[in-house]
Amino acid sequence: MGRMANEPTTLPAFADLPAGRTAKGLARPDLGVPVEIPWFAVRGAEPGPTLLVTAGVHGAEYASIEAAYRAAATDPAELAGTLLVLPIVTPPSFFARSIYVTPVDGANPNRVFPGRDDGGFSERLAAWLMRQAVDRADAWIDLHGGDLIESLTPFSLVPEDDPVSRRLGEAFGLPLMIEDDLDGTTATEGARRGLPCVLAEAGGQGLWPEKAVVPLADGVGRALIHLGMREGDLPPREVKTLTTFAWLRSEHAGLWRPRVAGGDPVTAGQELGVVTDLLGEVRQRAVAPQDGVALFAVSSLAINAGDPLVGVGA
Ligand SMILES: [Zn+2]
Repeated sequence: MGRMANEPTTLPAFADLPAGRTAKGLARPDLGVPVEIPWFAVRGAEPGPTLLVTAGVHGAEYASIEAAYRAAATDPAELAGTLLVLPIVTPPSFFARSIYVTPVDGANPNRVFPGRDDGGFSERLAAWLMRQAVDRADAWIDLHGGDLIESLTPFSLVPEDDPVSRRLGEAFGLPLMIEDDLDGTTATEGARRGLPCVLAEAGGQGLWPEKAVVPLADGVGRALIHLGMREGDLPPREVKTLTTFAWLRSEHAGLWRPRVAGGDPVTAGQELGVVTDLLGEVRQRAVAPQDGVALFAVSSLAINAGDPLVGVGA
């Protein structure tokens, strides 16, 4: 027997919420450790589709979390349909200021979607999110950014060969958009369930300046217009589409001295940074595999074997 819809482990049945109001609460799913996941359901005055906006799958990508809280403040009187916002999907990572992985199981939640109920914390969290939120939505925007140790230039990721998602990404309006699939990520797995999905990234290095928050919050507003959930002008934005996203990774633990930051153009063969060991000996030179742009670059001096260094889009 399933749980009652009004138990706090679940999100409410949106149809039962009063129209023209914003409901909010803390969901307490059974994930093996106590968590309280904040949710906001902006119920429009008029019927319409449901847009899911998530942030904080990675808990220290603050610009995206702040943008989600701003999206949750959308006036329900101006809305048709339901805007469901979960601004901090992974609270243990948020409070631990954890990079990439959760402090509970050491897993990266954005590699385990769609998750499983008999798995570890991240897998159970992903399964809960899919069932409670994604499967009840008509479109999904998952907000991210550079992590605590990454500089990043704003870009969107949309699934490959998915024109509906691509149009949603173009409407969102970040200047760069990559068509790429990666198993276990929110956008790829959401698209497999038939939803138009955009993973949008801005900000990084633990900061949440307006120049990173505004493009994400504004992008959600533009997506609402695109989906017919809000009236307004949608002036077209110039969005450059990239088709490859190459990640350079460190082969050694040691010290990383990057020569580029997120947003820098790079040319094939260019040295993007150097990894040395603890005695200062060069162990790896990171070289751009192609002409393109550094979408993100790790900025921490400390580096572990296997860590990302630079992501080059082309
Ligand atoms: Zn992220």
